[in-house]
Amino acid sequence: MTTLDFDIQLSDHRVTPAERERLLAAPGFGQVFTDHMISIRWTEDRGWHDARLQPYGPLTLDPATAVFHYGQELFEGLKAYRRADGTIVTFRPYANAARFNRSCARMAMPSLPEDAFVRALELLVSTEHEWVPTAPGHSLYLRPFVIATQRGLGVNSPSNSYQFLVIASPSAAYFTGGVKPVSVWLSKDYTRAAPGGTGAAKCGGNYAGSFVAQAQAVREGCDQVVWLDAHEHRWVEEMGGMNLFFVYGSGADARLMTPALTGTLLPGITRDSLLTLAPDLGIPTEEGRISIEEWQAGNASGELSEVFACGTAAVITPVGRVKGPDGEWLVGSGEPGAVTMRLRQELVGIQYGERPDPYGWIHKIA
Ligand SMILES: *Cc1c(COP(=O)(O)O)cnc(C)c1O
Repeated sequence: MTTLDFDIQLSDHRVTPAERERLLAAPGFGQVFTDHMISIRWTEDRGWHDARLQPYGPLTLDPATAVFHYGQELFEGLKAYRRADGTIVTFRPYANAARFNRSCARMAMPSLPEDAFVRALELLVSTEHEWVPTAPGHSLYLRPFVIATQRGLGVNSPSNSYQFLVIASPSAAYFTGGVKPVSVWLSKDYTRAAPGGTGAAKCGGNYAGSFVAQAQAVREGCDQVVWLDAHEHRWVEEMGGMNLFFVYGSGADARLMTPALTGTLLPGITRDSLLTLAPDLGIPTEEGRISIEEWQAGNASGELSEVFACGTAAVITPVGRVKGPDGEWLVGSGEPGAVTMRLRQELVGIQYGERPDPYGWIHKIA
């Protein structure tokens, strides 16, 4: 299969323009969905086929469908942005397509040609262009995902059929009324991923296992959980569904360190973009490692000036306070740092077209 022809089935019960405006006024995150979705099916004999744009709505699946029992599922997340000139763009969609296929390989699922992945996004976004918000910092969040659809409880082999879908959700700016630092809980009781496991794949199962730790973080008075390595419970890996960056020094001497991709971390596209962007702003970067003892000592001595998390949904989120079973401390003054805010402004600037795009990251859709 070289190209997929999408069958277009437009909804005859789209929400009215007035209702859409009402929903777009305060969409929240991941609560409101557009009128249509993408579906593409895969079977062993036909490969990817039956590609369509169809009305958004429930799926009908047999209770014995594989995804419900063994969790063979994975997803992606990216955004479509409306710029001041009215055009609609996405950010590095081919990077999401490539990561999607790396996740597929880990989960024993068939890969989807990158062009078909991006074409699906383009078709959905151009159909739903009226759902791409105009308010500053708002966007249309795109959620591609794939599920195992074989019926049966056999556990010895991967599913022999799959369904790929893309849904779209208008979303408000993550921070309303200014960027607010989060507090984090260092999870020593639970681990997110172990060597050889699925930590580098964007699969739902990684999240299913994380909610109990997130609930513990909240009980400890923190916003988010920080994951440590599975072996020693010392080496910092990620924060919730975001990658972490550590800023050493300040001003002209500032440099960035982010935990290396050991196989247990999710390779974030925001992380990768910052590793590319920062050196061009005069901020050297390094992929390394940091223990929780080094984190605490670095903040105490002032050598470690800022810490932030990054990911598509919230872009860049400062970390203000750290708490673990053995103590609690502030990062810098607990307020957003200068390097954090500068990187955030640069990245958001490229996405919304207020800054040039020297890296070719912007993919125009409409
Ligand atoms: C999606 C995700 C990230 C961030 O990836 P981006 O491509 O930057 O959005 C980080 N960690 C986890 C666990 C994730 O699922």
